[in-house]
Amino acid sequence: MRAIFFLYIQIMVIASGFTQTAYGLQFQRYHAQEEIAQYLRSRAQNYPDVARFVVLGQSLQGREIAYVAISKNWSPDVPAIYFNGTHHGNEKASTEAVLGLIDFLIQQRDRTDVDRLLRKYRIVLQPLVNPDGHAANLRTDSQGIDPNRDYATPTRPESDAFRLVETRLVRRLLSNERVVASAAFHSGLEAVLWPWCHTPSTSRHDPVFKALGQSVARTMGMPKYTQSFHDYQTDGEFIDFAYMKFGVYALTLEVSHEATPDADQLQAVVQRAVNGSVAFLKAVDRVLPAAPAQQVSNEDKAKVTRPVL
Ligand SMILES: [Zn+2]
Repeated sequence: MRAIFFLYIQIMVIASGFTQTAYGLQFQRYHAQEEIAQYLRSRAQNYPDVARFVVLGQSLQGREIAYVAISKNWSPDVPAIYFNGTHHGNEKASTEAVLGLIDFLIQQRDRTDVDRLLRKYRIVLQPLVNPDGHAANLRTDSQGIDPNRDYATPTRPESDAFRLVETRLVRRLLSNERVVASAAFHSGLEAVLWPWCHTPSTSRHDPVFKALGQSVARTMGMPKYTQSFHDYQTDGEFIDFAYMKFGVYALTLEVSHEATPDADQLQAVVQRAVNGSVAFLKAVDRVLPAAPAQQVSNEDKAKVTRPVL
């Protein structure tokens, strides 16, 4: 009885963290990983037509690393647009921003502009790249390694990179999904940054990156959008790898000045990041060649995507 009572309390606490509003989730406080895991699973259970839940693997300390895919077209040929958060575990606004985007896309799935995007793209959303860092409130993983310096780049071969299981799982996701564009959420700055990070040389697609970055930054009211190198030089970032290896239009989206803003600011931070993300999706759609729209079959709906580990 006692155990059942505590289980009941626990369920109530979890449920209250995700009270539905016009936009779905409330962000009056930060969410624990158990709540996030439950939320991701429940999206696929409650909205099987548009949401799928995928376990990608486990962190070094054994925490689940998972994502949801949201779409109205489950053909494998549909291009994917990938959002991730929490490369840096202490940047908790980045985690919540991904949750807010998941919630928005599902709640607003039949809004004309969202419906159109979901018919053309699979939106892949991973709130926690570095759950061990999130749990310990550390920028790095549990060994002190910065995940966003662990990727291969043009000056750093893969044999010298990917020391972390967490970045290897991101690489696997990029291989398994047909990702064409991506935004990696961070917090601690307000800016939109794009490759290259490791060199001042501009990439061949710099005009495209600039157009994408400008669209997001203007929507969010952020004056700073620039090639990442001109913020500061780094080697081993996700965006350089995703662009180099897979030709992904990958941006870093720094969503708030504070890494973990006060809880009373969180709703506004998340809402602005969602607005910027929708601008990103629409801007990507403008720069990519048209993808054929396909009807969703019942057979497709029944499938669950599970990459082989
Ligand atoms: Zn960061």
